[in-house]
Amino acid sequence: MKILITGGAGFIGSAVSRYAIENLKHEIVILDKLTYAGNLNSLLPIKDSQRFSFIQADICDHNQLNNIFRDVMPESVMHLAAESHVDRSINAPNDFIQTNIIGTYNLLEISRSYFSELDDKKKKNFRFHHISTDEVFGDLHDTGDLFTEESSYMPSSPYSASKASSDHLVRAWHRTFNLPTLVTNCSNNYGPYQFPEKLIPLTILNALSGKDITVYGDGSQIRDWLYVEDHAIALLEVIANGAIGETYNIGGDSEKRNIDVVFQICNILDKLVTPKDKNFKSFSDLIKFVPDRPGHDFRYAIDSSKLKKELSWNASESFDSGILKTVQWYLDNKNWWLGILDGSYKEVSL
Ligand code: NAD
Repeated sequence: MKILITGGAGFIGSAVSRYAIENLKHEIVILDKLTYAGNLNSLLPIKDSQRFSFIQADICDHNQLNNIFRDVMPESVMHLAAESHVDRSINAPNDFIQTNIIGTYNLLEISRSYFSELDDKKKKNFRFHHISTDEVFGDLHDTGDLFTEESSYMPSSPYSASKASSDHLVRAWHRTFNLPTLVTNCSNNYGPYQFPEKLIPLTILNALSGKDITVYGDGSQIRDWLYVEDHAIALLEVIANGAIGETYNIGGDSEKRNIDVVFQICNILDKLVTPKDKNFKSFSDLIKFVPDRPGHDFRYAIDSSKLKKELSWNASESFDSGILKTVQWYLDNKNWWLGILDGSYKEVSL
């Protein structure tokens, strides 16, 4: 299948693209604006594949997007392009409204017009797969509760509100215009190639540079962690075999308090690395609690039984195995993150 992947130079989009090229037979065309979060270094492993190509473009640019659809003639679309960091959405929400809402609206409108011109066979196979987050459901407080596909939307941050808006638009384009859509809502991802502003890579890199490891509030917030390659496999399964108009929740069954995640990373680093700075014995000595993020959601936890039952998907990494692999990857791939820290990743071309 020839898939147009928006946001494919980002953390999850690049994992989907690498997996699809290295393990499946898909042809992948990435469309990405290359914001600060887009990184062509994450696509180097697949750059020589004949089944891979890259286009730099903004999903908010209607005309450019329209021309790309006519040139590329995708058989399906996976939409991952987004502004994705909650802290940035609190400091400057505008890009979130533009990309996550207006950009998704553009893509839907262009997909609708493009779809209407396809022949019957291509129409039958075309899918518009919108990749979203469990944060649209707000947060949970009772330990037994889980988000299901029927949970109400109660977003807390500008980021989650913009993603919730985009989910609603996608559903409406299915219901009103019969665009063959799929929506997935996934829990927190972690793994290789994640931009070091999110909890896990930020903790690893701060620890390695002997900086404070900051933790919001008392660190008791709970997230359900999923290894990024398990998410990529789930997404590629959903686009191939998901039922049109359906939503699937994706989670890792790995609920952890933020503070426990941070301690686990420090324990792994204590075993793998000798700190250069002898002022501290354990990396956990660097942990520093800072005032909580406004509107901080307390707990997310996902019920992915629909996906497991209908599409036989299961996560293959436990949190213990995935976090060990992730820390090891950051230790083995210093050039990838040093390129971000010194800004040179912006000069890479494919
Ligand atoms: P990311 O921030 O790493 O990557 C986003 C990508 O989108 C970047 O490559 C960026 O350049 C691109 N982009 C941003 N604005 C664009 C625009 N206007 N036009 C074209 N490209 C643009 O994000 P991620 O963590 O890979 O998340 C991907 C998707 O998955 C997002 O929609 C996010 O909401 C969703 N999601 C993320 C997580 C997570 O834990 N990271 C969990 C569930 C769902």
